[in-house]
Parts: sequence; C-alpha cells; structure tokens
Amino acid sequence: MEPIALNGRLYRRPTRPTVVICADGCDPSYLEAGIAAGLLRTIAGFRERGFFGFADAAMPTFTNPNNVSIVTGAPPSVHGISGNFALDRETGAEIMMTDPAMLRSPTLLALMSQAGVATAAVTAKDKLRRMLGHGWSGVCFSSEMADGCTLAEHGIEGVEALVGRPKPDMYSADLSLFVLDAGIRLVEQDRAEILYLSLSDYVQHGHAPDEAEALSFHCALDERIAALIGLGCVVGVTADHGMNDKALPDGSPHVIFLEDVLNREFGAGAVRVICPITDPFVRHHGALGSFVRVYARNGTAPAELARAIRGLPGIDQVLDRGAAAAEYELPYDREADLVVTGDGNTALGSTVAEHDLAGLTGHRLRSHGGRSEQRVPFLLSHPLNAAYRDKAKSRLRNFDIYDFALNGAAA
Ligand SMILES: [Zn+2]
Repeated sequence: MEPIALNGRLYRRPTRPTVVICADGCDPSYLEAGIAAGLLRTIAGFRERGFFGFADAAMPTFTNPNNVSIVTGAPPSVHGISGNFALDRETGAEIMMTDPAMLRSPTLLALMSQAGVATAAVTAKDKLRRMLGHGWSGVCFSSEMADGCTLAEHGIEGVEALVGRPKPDMYSADLSLFVLDAGIRLVEQDRAEILYLSLSDYVQHGHAPDEAEALSFHCALDERIAALIGLGCVVGVTADHGMNDKALPDGSPHVIFLEDVLNREFGAGAVRVICPITDPFVRHHGALGSFVRVYARNGTAPAELARAIRGLPGIDQVLDRGAAAAEYELPYDREADLVVTGDGNTALGSTVAEHDLAGLTGHRLRSHGGRSEQRVPFLLSHPLNAAYRDKAKSRLRNFDIYDFALNGAAA
C-alpha cells in the first residue's frame, strides 16, 4: 500500500487503530503532578514501555493553529491558520479564523479518508470540528453538539446512546472525557482505523496542576488511554499549548491592556490591538492570552511602537512583521505590523472595555499564547523504532505526532 504524502512527509497507512489525542492545555506540569501523586500509571509507564518526551507547540500557542498543525504536520506558515481570530489586512474586518476557506493545506485526516482508511475525528468544541472535518467524509463530530449528529453531516448518529450518557455541559471536564469515551466506543465497534481526539482546556484554565480537579481529570485521561491501548491501539498524546498562572499575588489578573497603553502614549487611534485567542468560548479566561498583534494606524511608525512596548514590564518579545513570520513560522500575508508576547506570568489584552473578566471570579487567571507555553508533552504508547529513536534526539514539534504514531511506533 502506498504511503500518504503531505507537506514533505510520508505517512504509512495504519496497520492497527492509531489514535492521536490533543490534550488541550496539558502543560507538562499537569503530568508531573499527576505522576508524583501516583495517579497516572499508564502515562508514567510510557517512560519504560513507550516514549515519554517533550515537544514545542507552534506559535501562537493557541488552540486552533496547533490543532491544524497537528493534522497537517506543518506550522502555520504552511497551513495558514495563525490564530482563532484575526484582522483581515485587505478589508480591515475582524474575522474568526475558523472558516475552512482559510486553510491552505489538506489535512492528513482528509487524505487518509480519501485513500479508503476509516477515519474519525472527535472534538470538544464544534467550531474546531467544522475546520478539521473539511474535505473528507467519515465520522467527525463534537461533544458540544453530540445530540444533533446526522449521518449526512457527521457520518454518525445516536452518539449519546453510543457513549451512554447525554452530551456534557459546555463548561465541564466531561466535555473532554466524552470525546475520549466516544473514541473508545468507535474503536470497540471497529469504526475507525485512524482517530483524532481533541479535548478542551476548561480544567487547565481553572485549576493549577496540584488541585484536586486537575488531578482527577488527568487520572481520568490516563484511564482512557489505558482502555485504548487495551483495545490494541497505538496512542500518541500531545497538547496544543501549555498553561501558566497569569495572576498577581493578590489573585487579580496580571494584564497589560496594550491598545489602551499605546493609544494613551501615541494618541487616540494610533494602534489597533487584536487578541487572536478570542473565540466565542472564552468565559473562563476573558479572552486574555500572552500573544497579541499590533496594527499601526494613522502613520504611526511600528519601530516607535516597538520601542515603547519593549519598555513595559512583563513583555517577553516584540517582533516586526517579517521577523515574526520567520521566527514563529507564520504566514507573512496574514501577519500584523508587530507581534508581542507576554512572559510566563503576563497576559496581554486590547482595551479594558473589550475584555469581560466576570467569568474569572473564583479562580486566578491561567492562560497561554506565548513562548512560555510552547513546551508540551509528546507521548507514545509503544517504543520507537531505531530511526525514530534517532529523530527524537532533535527538536520535536507537537505536529510530529502523527509521523511518530504511524511511522515510528515499533511493531
Ligand atoms: Zn487550547
């Protein structure tokens, strides 16, 4: 059987069910805490019986760019999705970047499905499902909309009966566990040879690694990974991004509202700041991440803005359009005049008025987006063959995971 070629890689067709889990927001610190507590026996066992490593996520360390990277095996410069939300440089309109029309690469899922491999993708959120399901037919649905699946659109119906419970609340740990349980049922019923299971980071946004909610969630994840391995699957696990505390010692969010700061200094209307973390599902972090795009207006010089931003405490890096596209592997034509990242403890916002912090009551702000959240787990249920043991000695990316799961897992 011919391998599948995509973006400079050749993927073997699966010879046993092959599952990639994108554990949304699974910073390595969650696994460290779970292993230390003795709760992650399967994942801990990968150190001896499989592969336990770390990889760098794509920048910005947000959900959509990284999910698309994982299913295309390529950075945003290739697939075109550089945020959840963007400003269209040509029209000036602010748009969601979740339209499949913005995708510049086919996905591995689409190519596998077209080649006759039974393919399934299950996501927590429906927005992502629509993007990942583009261009192929097979089983593709979200736990968010699990009560409305049709054979015509999702390749499956009766998902709630299949999983054995009603669709979970949008803001719950079960939104992710439902994805995993659906994946287990699909394998049990022989309905998929290649699977992509993409979770939600609801738990990680609200809870530090050593909190009971985080420990029990990752324990539940570990049990489901064990179930998949028990069914004969090769399981690869990585994350779209890590997660860091972005709060001050008093518990209030540590945020620089960059558009406000710059317009105060350079004059009203001098800049527009776009937060590409924005999506309709942000109640738990107020659309605050550590990566923003700055568009200079009214003839303001980007270099002057950059100098001012570099003087602010909590800023990690300020790059102009060309440098950002090169260093972060982003599509130049969709890039802003400046790209700004906050450090591990600092979130960046646009204007105070644009961010609703009401959903943050009760917990500290935890978020992602910058270089401090780039390091993620990279796990495989099976040992690596010799060629991939070698490959694993150089820098791994989260979007190498299908390559490793399909080509690198020893028989
Ligand atoms: Zn995410």
